[in-house]
Amino acid sequence: MLVVERISDLRKAIDEAKLIGRTVGLVPTMGALHEGHLSLVKASKDAGDFTVVSIFVNPTQFAPTEDLQKYPRPFEADTEKCEEAGVDIIFHPSVEEMYPAGFSTYINVEGPLTELWEGVSRPTHFRGVVTICAKLFAVVEPERAYFGMKDYQQLKVIQKMVRELNIPLNIIPVPIVRENDGLAMSSRNIYLNPQERKAALVLYRSLLRARDLIESKETNAEIIRQFVHDTITAEPLATEDYIAVADPETLQPVEKIKGRTLIALAVRIGKTRLIDNMLIKPNKPV
Ligand code: AMP
Repeated sequence: MLVVERISDLRKAIDEAKLIGRTVGLVPTMGALHEGHLSLVKASKDAGDFTVVSIFVNPTQFAPTEDLQKYPRPFEADTEKCEEAGVDIIFHPSVEEMYPAGFSTYINVEGPLTELWEGVSRPTHFRGVVTICAKLFAVVEPERAYFGMKDYQQLKVIQKMVRELNIPLNIIPVPIVRENDGLAMSSRNIYLNPQERKAALVLYRSLLRARDLIESKETNAEIIRQFVHDTITAEPLATEDYIAVADPETLQPVEKIKGRTLIALAVRIGKTRLIDNMLIKPNKPV
């Protein structure tokens, strides 16, 4: 496995892989790798791709009030996990490599997709995410890039950007990986103290309740939303940010459950903001 910090070195190594006929898969991450990230790597390996994992805590997607400074950066442990998972290259650039002095080009996906949910709570977040992904796509030129459904809105925003900018690659969605008790894996889970860790289960519990309701033929979205709200409110350490019962393509709220429905939520547990979601098909969980 190669670890490279420079765009020029990365391009060289990727060109060599392509010359011998390899297809390239990109797994963009901010590091502090867990089984969720590694499932993206596995999907890339299973597709037979020469697998590039980028590890870059991207400053432009953090607001000044957010956790950029304290975001975990256990690079050695990440390297070991990648090696074990069969990653071909780790791309670990400095901030200056990705954003040289004077950098001023950003990509905005405008419109409803970025104006709701994460876009409300974190107004500059998607501009940063989309810009860094576009740069990584330009540098790596992968056939496929792998994104977790854990960040469902991000997945939809990236798919739209790639489609509308005619970037020739496939975005591959990968299902959410959870801890044994149901908590969605996240690099931010380490911020939780033992009490908060227990309280954080309320996210998954409320999603399961929503699924039960839909499977037992409840079609009124407001009743489902209210049920999720009541579940979250009953947990003293939890503060709701948003709860949405939405169309999985447009992310717009639905009034009546007709087909596949996305329940998405963001909840603060103490100071830690967690997101989770579930894609539900009436009578058939997906
Ligand atoms: P991050 O390092 O948090 O920026 O995440 C990098 C990629 O891993 C994103 O595509 C995430 O959606 C994905 N990811 C993070 N957590 C999970 C999880 N629990 N299950 C599946 N994918 C995940």
